[in-house]
Amino acid sequence: MKIMKFGGTSVGNPDRMRALIPLINDPDKKIVVLSAMSGTTNSLVEIAGLLYADKIDEASLKNEQLRAKYHQVVDELYATEKFKKSGHELIDSHFEYIRNFTLRVFTKLQEKAILSQGELISTSLFHMLMQENNIRAALLPALSFMRIDKDGEPDYFYIEENLKRELKKCPQENIIITQGFICRNAYGEIDNLKRGGSDFTASIIGAASRADEIQIWTDINGFHNNDPRFVENTKVIRNISFDEAAELAYFGAKILHPSSVNPAREKNIPVRLKNTMEPEDIGTLITADCKWEDYKAVAAKDGISVLRIRSDRMLMAYGFLRKVFEIFEAYKTPIDMITTSEVSISLTVDNSEFINEIAKDLRELGGVEIEQNQSIICVVGDFRPERTGSAPEIFEALNTIPLKMISYGGSPYSLSLLIDTSNKVDALRQLSKHLFK
Ligand code: ADP
Ligand code: ASP
Ligand code: MG
Repeated sequence: MKIMKFGGTSVGNPDRMRALIPLINDPDKKIVVLSAMSGTTNSLVEIAGLLYADKIDEASLKNEQLRAKYHQVVDELYATEKFKKSGHELIDSHFEYIRNFTLRVFTKLQEKAILSQGELISTSLFHMLMQENNIRAALLPALSFMRIDKDGEPDYFYIEENLKRELKKCPQENIIITQGFICRNAYGEIDNLKRGGSDFTASIIGAASRADEIQIWTDINGFHNNDPRFVENTKVIRNISFDEAAELAYFGAKILHPSSVNPAREKNIPVRLKNTMEPEDIGTLITADCKWEDYKAVAAKDGISVLRIRSDRMLMAYGFLRKVFEIFEAYKTPIDMITTSEVSISLTVDNSEFINEIAKDLRELGGVEIEQNQSIICVVGDFRPERTGSAPEIFEALNTIPLKMISYGGSPYSLSLLIDTSNKVDALRQLSKHLFK
């Protein structure tokens, strides 16, 4: 069995949805994971934001605008009156559901329920398109098997058992459609796998069902060696290892959700990245094999804050780092990069929700400075300890850009640097120019 995940642009309009039919309509058994149509989750986030701010009229207006857009999609998607009618009814039921939230006090729980509507709509519309074209397909509700635990991690035992049970209900269908992104939490409430989480869904399902391959279909023909949104003439990488892909995804390569490599790596299931607009292109294959190359790719992650702690108590002392880490643990805030000197330590975080509380507790240990609007640049390549000569090329490329932190030796696959976000685009371009000549 394969898993085929289609992202927002791949289901972004009626033409794109129809273009998926030849990609999935063959005798192989497959689970088709769909995102919301592009732009929808952003609009739903906006509606939720307005409801939080008690701007009910603006939220209702936005909701009606989105509803109108979907009615137009229905008109263009289906050929027959019968399916147009069912499509309009479907859209109205989802947007009535959202509208009802404008009548009550708004909570985090309701926000999650609103955000789930994008994937629920896209999968239902697509399932109906299959029916209209007389293609046999089943619609499998993700909320009946996808669950996260109290720590927000996939509950693999639950997922495997429930997915198995649900799949038994549709033994005849080769095409099984389900929602990306959405899930239930440990309390059975509607939740999600964070923005861009449909890739994660595909990988979790792939691991849970021991699929032969996980395919992530998007709007670009695979993993590029730099961020194509900021750098020209980036090139596709045809083969990359799980470890390298995980570093790049974690450090900002938007093509993959940061957590999505792990489940596939655990069960050693190949992941293929493909372009729905150019399906004949072989794309990128991610497997356990690593073919070492000096430099494979560069990625950048924004929204980073750095905390610098200075304390003479650190000098020759043991147990100091434990105290620092315990503070981050207490606020469930993961640390990305870390460097230390004799009496100081610098740490970066991408979640600054509790940064002031963390800084307050850290001040018990020494002086604390915070700097925001930072970016981590991650260079993936051959950084094995025995290798010589790689770092100078990187520093040469970045010799006009102030480097705030350098992390080297943490992984044989990568070197990371911290810079001001205002220098990010320049840094990415300079690295491409020097490393991928
Ligand atoms: P989808 O909606 O299909 O999930 P995304 O927008 O999440 O698609 O991811 C695809 C986009 O990721 C590409 O259009 C590209 O702009 C961006 N991207 C960023 N870094 C890379 C990279 N290294 N390789 C390929 N695409 C990248
Ligand atoms: N629709 C969700 C988002 O926009 C999930 C996804 O597209 O992967 O974040
Ligand atoms: Mg995505």
